[in-house]
Amino acid sequence: MKVRNPRTGEIDHILEPVDRAGVAAAAKRLRKNQPRWAAMSISERSTIMLRWADAIEKHARAIVEQLTVDTGRAGISAIEVGSLPDTIRRWAAQAPDIIARHSPSNVASANPTVEYSTQLVPFPLFGAIAPWNFPIILSTIDAIPALFAGCAALIKPSEITPRFVDPLRASIAEVPELADVLEIVLGDAATGEALVAHVDYVCFTGSVATGRKVAVAAAEAFIPANLELGGKDPMIILASADPVEAAKTALRASILATGQACQSIERLYVAREIYDRFLETLVTEAEKVRLNYPDMNQGEIGPFIFAPQGRKIGEQIAEAKAKGARVLTGGTVETLGGGTYLRPTVIANATPDMAVIRDESFGPVLPVIAFDNVEDAIAQANDSIYGLSAAVLAGTAEEAKAVGERLEAGAISINDGSMTAMVWDAENSSFKMSGMGPSRMGESGLTRFFRQQAFIEQTAAPARIQDFAEENFAGSNGQ
Ligand code: NAD
Repeated sequence: MKVRNPRTGEIDHILEPVDRAGVAAAAKRLRKNQPRWAAMSISERSTIMLRWADAIEKHARAIVEQLTVDTGRAGISAIEVGSLPDTIRRWAAQAPDIIARHSPSNVASANPTVEYSTQLVPFPLFGAIAPWNFPIILSTIDAIPALFAGCAALIKPSEITPRFVDPLRASIAEVPELADVLEIVLGDAATGEALVAHVDYVCFTGSVATGRKVAVAAAEAFIPANLELGGKDPMIILASADPVEAAKTALRASILATGQACQSIERLYVAREIYDRFLETLVTEAEKVRLNYPDMNQGEIGPFIFAPQGRKIGEQIAEAKAKGARVLTGGTVETLGGGTYLRPTVIANATPDMAVIRDESFGPVLPVIAFDNVEDAIAQANDSIYGLSAAVLAGTAEEAKAVGERLEAGAISINDGSMTAMVWDAENSSFKMSGMGPSRMGESGLTRFFRQQAFIEQTAAPARIQDFAEENFAGSNGQ
């Protein structure tokens, strides 16, 4: 498979996709090794995982280098790789306590003679399928807690961004006990389909269209599918917000990582009272933003990782213009040095029928709609097939929260935007078509990988069949 460089547009990497037999062989090896891994205590597994964190740091430079080629951005690649050891260390600190609290012993039940204990039994083989926008975080965000739980893990990253895998594998190889239970397979849809057929629990991060296919395949295989899908996050800016600060926050929350984040703000609803000042600042600030071209180490916006995304957004912008929207800045998808770029694009006079308001853009596009009453803003924000996250800016947290409580999304940023990227402890569910299954954040990020096995202990004489004789119930059986 040919892999395109997002900065040069050239095919400069070839990957050999793992076929069905290869996935089956990997799954077989991992399954064979998993019982030993699961039999370890959580502190033994943690010690091994912490060695991996150190190994990642040792190989960090090589991983960042390759991830930078994969994504065409340097700073965020360094942040991504840097977050990996942090994630491992965070779970190492938290997992023992979470596991202890969820596996109580000798608990009195409602039945006075019965007590129970809970044992957590990990799913043997966990599988992850990841997209290209944050290749390393999204390949590992679920696999790390799954490994802490005692699962073996099989990961399939996106075929668009595979270069980081070799140096990451080098870090895994330094920890042989981990290499026994963790494997990365590269390939496209066919490899992903094979993975779903071989694992006991699948976490999929990607588009709604593919998520639906994964959910169907998981249903056929009778395994849980935990889906983290697209979004069209709204931000509501109330009249009490400072319009200048709000514009700056909205800009960052929308265009960071070139808007290629599921939690990017993609629709802005602004109170009419502050609309003009907000819009003016938004345009001024958007025009200060620089591309990271030609020097990758300067600027805030990188190329589209997946060039067709740029073309799709170009069509959305053209449709909005044809329907009467005004592009105040940006708006032209450019090819520079072979890469595809879009400067922050502020669109005024957007209306709910436009694709820029309805469909996921996944780029630095800020369509703005003025509102006269909050009820209308809430209704418009909720008028979406998506429900990933949202944001509200107001003069006070209380005011913002009162509006946020009425939004149909799993995570609401209050007086900031896109905060799910920064906070790991807050459990949140994806509403509507943005996903399915337990939260990957917070405690459930770990507990979802266990089945609960109950030991139900009778402390008195067990009941006898005669206790259930019909005559014992005479008068109470309705006759
Ligand atoms: P995608 O759905 O095209 O691909 C995701 C992964 O699925 C890739 O690894 C791909 O090879 C694999 N795949 C494709 N067909 C498959 C099949 N039939 N069976 C199994 N696997 C298959 O998504 P993408 O374009 O790589 O990523 C962008 C999307 O991801 C956006 O919609 C974005 O919102 C979403 N996303 C969601 C989150 C979240 O946490 N909710 C995070 C990041 C990205």
